[in-house]
Amino acid sequence: MKTFKIGGIHPEENKLAKEEAIEVFPIPKQVTLFVTQHLGAPSTPIVQAGDKVKVGQLVATAQTLVCANLHSPVSGTVVKVEPVPDMTGYRKLAITIDVEDDIWEETIDTTSEIRKEITLTKPEIIERIKACGVVGLGGACFPTHVKYMVPPEKKVDYIIVNGAECEPYITTDHRIMLENGEECLIGVQALLIASGAPEARIGIEANKPDAFEHLQRLASQYPNIKVFKLKTKYPQGAEKQLIKSLTGREVPNGKLPIEVGCIVNNITTTYAIYEAVQKNKPLIETYTTISGKRAKTLKNYKIRLGTSISEVLSTVGIPENTGKIVSGGPMMGKAIANINSYFVKGMSSLLFIDESESKRGVVEECIRCGKCVTACPMGLEPYLLYALATRADYEECEKHGIMNCIECGSCQYGCPAFRPLLDMIRVGKNKTGYMIRTRNK
Ligand code: SF4
Ligand code: SF4
Repeated sequence: MKTFKIGGIHPEENKLAKEEAIEVFPIPKQVTLFVTQHLGAPSTPIVQAGDKVKVGQLVATAQTLVCANLHSPVSGTVVKVEPVPDMTGYRKLAITIDVEDDIWEETIDTTSEIRKEITLTKPEIIERIKACGVVGLGGACFPTHVKYMVPPEKKVDYIIVNGAECEPYITTDHRIMLENGEECLIGVQALLIASGAPEARIGIEANKPDAFEHLQRLASQYPNIKVFKLKTKYPQGAEKQLIKSLTGREVPNGKLPIEVGCIVNNITTTYAIYEAVQKNKPLIETYTTISGKRAKTLKNYKIRLGTSISEVLSTVGIPENTGKIVSGGPMMGKAIANINSYFVKGMSSLLFIDESESKRGVVEECIRCGKCVTACPMGLEPYLLYALATRADYEECEKHGIMNCIECGSCQYGCPAFRPLLDMIRVGKNKTGYMIRTRNK
């Protein structure tokens, strides 16, 4: 089995919802769409109160390179375009739509027929992915089309597809591979055309044997797609670790995967790409796992963007003694501060973390055990970065590679002294990044 060599940890997998088929969450009465639900600049609203919209209609456009179009996930009437608190509590510009019926744009193919033959050309595929507002659904929400605007001097050797789903609890990628594997592979074919790469490699962790076997069987029809089993180890799905596992290539520090001839996409993103390229369907839904050791119900939902988080919570019920509700997985996700907010692209989970597990241990002195160093997949010294960030020595933080931290949390996970390593390293990384940017101005 393939894997990366440096660091990594083995948290409890807790893939409790893996047997739950994807269910469509009912269309709500109203949706609220943040114009920022991707990495990069906010999109610009092109609708106003009183406008009628259909499902899949463009409602906010990308005006800069790193930005993504936004489409209405419902049909109805726009009631307001104004700031609304997001799940962190910050107010962000959003478009609120009252739902009426479920009327789709005529240009979208709403049939369930699987369209295998790709007729679009390379530039048309990239343009379609951009037009449909597709972003990476593995967590970062980076606009997908930008990855395929490859500089002419670079060559793409591999499309790398992340089916690892290494975050505990989350099972939507697993279900997509089982339920829409064929469409994912057509999406991968579209990416091969878009990039000119001769080969795609899909990596799936060994804890999903059914998905591995299913995709391997489907991929036997495609000589240019290979499926590999990966060791179950966190953070197997991180970009650099996945490239190392599947190609043996190492992305140099501070560089992007294209430096070593690779572009990485998450498996659910390949499904969104299939829908965009073959069905002209914009990204208007997100896939979300509802889970937790005491969850009243385990679900994998397909949810229209802009659905209220509290509406989903009242449907599934909040278990007693819940200390935190986390979005995005226990390792890299964030606790939701405001449940009166709304689903956005790439919101992959609502996890109920028990009160007892949600509390941090009492922070003690570092005992120099070196566990954090052994765990770090980037070969960093987290205890040292913590100390440097604490005393605001950002020059030294830079020298010791803080900007290479992928914020995976592996260091903090096993620290016997409960030191908030990642929290402080994040602060240090932000400040060091600012120092570098202002120095280079
Ligand atoms: S794991 Fe914790 S106690 Fe051990 S060296 Fe790292 S910071 Fe110190
Ligand atoms: S959070 Fe950063 S420092 Fe900690 S293990 Fe991950 S990469 Fe290393």
